[in-house]
Amino acid sequence: MAIKVTIWNEFRHEKSDPAAHALYPDGLHACIKKFLEEDPEIRVRLAALDDPDQGLPDEVLNDTDVLIWWGHMAHGEVSDALVERIRNRVYRNGMGFMPIHSGHHSKPFRAIVGTTGDLTWGREQTGIVWNMCPSHPIAKGIPAQFSLQEEMYGEPFFIPKPDDLIFATWFEDGNLFRGGVTYTRGLGKIFYFHPGHETCPSYHNPYVQQILRNAVHWVAPDASCEICDPGCVSQDHPVFQKN
Ligand code: ZN
Repeated sequence: MAIKVTIWNEFRHEKSDPAAHALYPDGLHACIKKFLEEDPEIRVRLAALDDPDQGLPDEVLNDTDVLIWWGHMAHGEVSDALVERIRNRVYRNGMGFMPIHSGHHSKPFRAIVGTTGDLTWGREQTGIVWNMCPSHPIAKGIPAQFSLQEEMYGEPFFIPKPDDLIFATWFEDGNLFRGGVTYTRGLGKIFYFHPGHETCPSYHNPYVQQILRNAVHWVAPDASCEICDPGCVSQDHPVFQKN
């Protein structure tokens, strides 16, 4: 059965910044859709902040196995009610959640993981992404290291201790960053990955593409799990009736 992925994109920079538009003329989300769907087991739907219901009405969110989230300049516009619906779907229904790039400061990431998401920030430069956990499914097919042109994100990164540190990035100005980390919250799995500044070509990099395809499979709810039912939208699931 195909994994149903929704890519949520703020979709503002690509309309207002010529450099972002040149790299991602149909939006970052359309670029990501294209390479995710090279995997026949992944089916992608697109959503944007300025769509009705901020792109995620119940019929879309409740039909999503994995939610990918890219936001940057308009985190504050995302409604708290939507954030709560997303958090519930991760915790109670096992929806996978993948905040990417500045999704570290998004309301859903903060609410789901429990963090400010604050970090050290700097100019675009060369970064080397180190594969810290080669045996992890998210790192399958990824070499020991690869380089990117990216916006610098550095430590300290105020996140709870990750379940696994899959990738760490070294930047040419000397900064280090825990840029690929996993969490489990409720029934849901989360993977944060830092590449994807709107004026950097990271989503055209084959290793970044492979990591995101791998991660979709890893965060997707397990269809064989009897507690975790991706199709269930009930708040009355037996496992939650105890409290
Ligand atoms: Zn950025």
